[in-house]
Amino acid sequence: MAEEAKNKKKHIVMVPIMAQGHIIPFLALARKIQHTAATTFTITIASTPLNIQHLKSALSSTSPNQIRLAELPFNSAQHGLPPNTENTEKLHFPQLVKFCHATLSLEAPLRSLISRITEEEGHPPLCIISDLFLGWVNNVANSVSTRNLTFTTCGAYGTLSYISIWSNLPHKKTHSDEFWVPGFPQNHRFHRTQLHRYLREADGTDDWSRFLIPQISHAMKSGGWICNTAEEIEPLGLQLLRKYLQLPVWAVGPLLPPPALRGSKHRSGKESSVTLEACMEWLDLKDENSVVYVSFGSQNTISASQMMALAEGLEKSERSFVWVIRPPVGFDIDGEFREEWLPKGFEEKMRDTKKGLLVQKWGPQLEILSHKSTGVFVSHCGWNSVLESLSNGVPMIGWPLAAEQMYNVKMLVEEMGVAVELTRTVETTICGDEVKKVIDMVMEKEGKGKEMKEKAKEIASHMRKAVTEKGEEEGSSVRAMDDLVMTILSPYSL
Ligand code: UDP
Repeated sequence: MAEEAKNKKKHIVMVPIMAQGHIIPFLALARKIQHTAATTFTITIASTPLNIQHLKSALSSTSPNQIRLAELPFNSAQHGLPPNTENTEKLHFPQLVKFCHATLSLEAPLRSLISRITEEEGHPPLCIISDLFLGWVNNVANSVSTRNLTFTTCGAYGTLSYISIWSNLPHKKTHSDEFWVPGFPQNHRFHRTQLHRYLREADGTDDWSRFLIPQISHAMKSGGWICNTAEEIEPLGLQLLRKYLQLPVWAVGPLLPPPALRGSKHRSGKESSVTLEACMEWLDLKDENSVVYVSFGSQNTISASQMMALAEGLEKSERSFVWVIRPPVGFDIDGEFREEWLPKGFEEKMRDTKKGLLVQKWGPQLEILSHKSTGVFVSHCGWNSVLESLSNGVPMIGWPLAAEQMYNVKMLVEEMGVAVELTRTVETTICGDEVKKVIDMVMEKEGKGKEMKEKAKEIASHMRKAVTEKGEEEGSSVRAMDDLVMTILSPYSL
């Protein structure tokens, strides 16, 4: 038995929280580890049954398939959530916190999985890589004396802002609108309006605090953090995050799929509502850098009045656009889209004039952003969206809605100069003219628009360098990945 076990590959178990914006980079990280360490590891991604179905479909195209999947039973109805809700994309924002608390119920199934692996292989997995939002996994790893690493699917700056503000609630210690966040230089100010309503109201005893604060604190006791960013693009964020955590932080990003695995299905297992060919054909008809792409990620939407203003602004701008639309705030985000949410005749007019392509619910985002016709991305600035946009040299119009998106935009505007912020949250009132003005500015061939485009291209070039594999110019993220693999293989004791 012992001899047999020695010959077995070393096992890594990965546990993402059940959200597309996390599962997609977790799968990309698993592929990258396999790619780096060839046949050294067996990797198992553990998630709930419906997410495993999507992952199966995403993996079906990769052969030979070295990534295993393990189901962790989860019953959403037992937690007061709609039946068969296993991913944040199915939820209204107010239900999210209940969903987060419900993820704590995955502890017992994860322990069973680890026991099963231990029994089969004669020893526990070598390492468990867990989501920042599932800090409790650290207890599971400790109980079997296994190394636990945290994967933050956000950038370094956004991660530090998020964990420090939630852990320290600095805005509660001042009446001023501007405040200092522990971990940042004293002169670095955050604004109260950059906090989501739930965070503004948090006092440490509310539902969000009761979930997030312990998860962050557990994750800070793991053996190190893996970050989906690169040294070259986030020098400040990485330096500050390392100092704050006092842990190793491996910047192994951007974790984007190789060209052969592009296509939404390979990344998330989700089919787009428009075929890739139709979307590419539509974009092929447009001039270079002329199209506005609009999407708010996998789980967010804007208010009904904001949606109307955005449509008016897009039309007034007279630019071509692709817009991934889903029902506005207050309606079933996964439900049918109603015509009344857009100006009368808008959809038909945009279709007939070929000015706008409206894509229901899920579009082939990475391919749209990689297309030469795409000139700007109106985005909620979720971190995956940021990386996908910048890796293609596409500047952004930020409209942050939740999570760490406000801090991402702050960095994109203040540190990188590749974005302009249109508005924040679903609570603001905007008008079509404001939308048009910002689009015009970013699309300008001169002035600020030109500057932003150049900076975005420069970042794309840094990103390419960071993941360059061969020769003396080996990129920083490749070196970080090698070091991560060495660390996972090194002896471990609690
Ligand atoms: N995505 C996509 N099509 C869509 C919407 C989202 O492929 O219509 C992908 C997008 O490319 C990204 C992820 O879903 O990889 C969303 O992650 P992000 O961090 O940007 O935002 P979140 O959904 O976590 O808020």
